[in-house]
Amino acid sequence: MSSNTIQRIEIWPIDVPITDPFVVATGERVTAQNLFMRVTLRDGTQGIGEAAPFPEVGGEDRASCLDTATGLAPTLIGQSVADYQSIADKLQEQAPFYPAARCGLETAMLDAHSRSLRIPLWQLWGSADVRDRETDITIPICDLERTLELARGWYTKGFRLFKMKVGKDVEEDIRRLEAVHDALPNIGFIGDGNQGFSREDCIRFVSGVKRFGGHLVLLEQPVIRDDLEGLRAIRQLTGVPVAADESVRSLDDARRVAQLQAADYINIKIMKTGVVEALRIATFTRSAGLRLMVGGMVETRIAMGCSFSLVLGRGGFDVLDLDTPLLLSTDPVLGGYRYSGPLLHPWHEAGLDMQAPCPADCMTIQ
Ligand SMILES: [Mg+2]
Repeated sequence: MSSNTIQRIEIWPIDVPITDPFVVATGERVTAQNLFMRVTLRDGTQGIGEAAPFPEVGGEDRASCLDTATGLAPTLIGQSVADYQSIADKLQEQAPFYPAARCGLETAMLDAHSRSLRIPLWQLWGSADVRDRETDITIPICDLERTLELARGWYTKGFRLFKMKVGKDVEEDIRRLEAVHDALPNIGFIGDGNQGFSREDCIRFVSGVKRFGGHLVLLEQPVIRDDLEGLRAIRQLTGVPVAADESVRSLDDARRVAQLQAADYINIKIMKTGVVEALRIATFTRSAGLRLMVGGMVETRIAMGCSFSLVLGRGGFDVLDLDTPLLLSTDPVLGGYRYSGPLLHPWHEAGLDMQAPCPADCMTIQ
């Protein structure tokens, strides 16, 4: 057994309150109910990971995610973290429908592996785009007054790209965007429908926004995930680029989207697929001539730092939606990348360079 074999895995729940209820067309959260995980190697090197299940998107909740991660963990004991790719493939075979649970374990392995190598996690993927990057900011579905209040607050902090959750009520969606547009100069919008629109609703939404002169940068997953024809029709009829999010939960999904020309962007999220598979989808997306966006579920900086590592190391990401740690009322993690206003600053220390205390009564597998 070499020094980089996995000796112990610890898993514990973490509750982080969300400052404003995270309301999207298909669901609602007031607390991020996530899992943190820690892998310890034979030489004592540790790595941390996070699972952020979002039932309405991925079908996982925390209880099933915890069961799955606990069930998968014993198969990792005694394995070398350098074999993370084949381990990730094995996890995918064992628990295909629990990507968030797998993502937490993969992230912890990758953190430990890159710490062993004494390189920042992003260096594992290359060093293609190591610089400060700007994220959008999400405005959940809420009333007009709160929408304006939130948008003004973020604008003051420097945010210019507003990801508006929409898809419940077209006319109200248009009114909310118009109010923000009227109040704040030089901004752009992403409209994220989370599958809530019909094709007709979405076209009405876009013409409404065009009527008042709003700058719609991107439409994210306006219609239900299986309606790839609808996505294509919307891109063609509106001329606004479309990002496939819920429609792409595997490499096969990405292939179908590309083949049908159903989207301009694919939104990569490690919680939908695990980390290794997310990288494969990203590589495929670029080779198919589509563009890359990166986002997350309601995550702390652990999972989001892993996603940021793809941006820095792999490169080729045009749109960053890496804002959820800013929507949480506390930051349970020390170290790692930093935010200043809308900018994410890269880190240069080994792994993710983060610490999170593990409670004494955590689940331990060894
Ligand atoms: Mg989305």
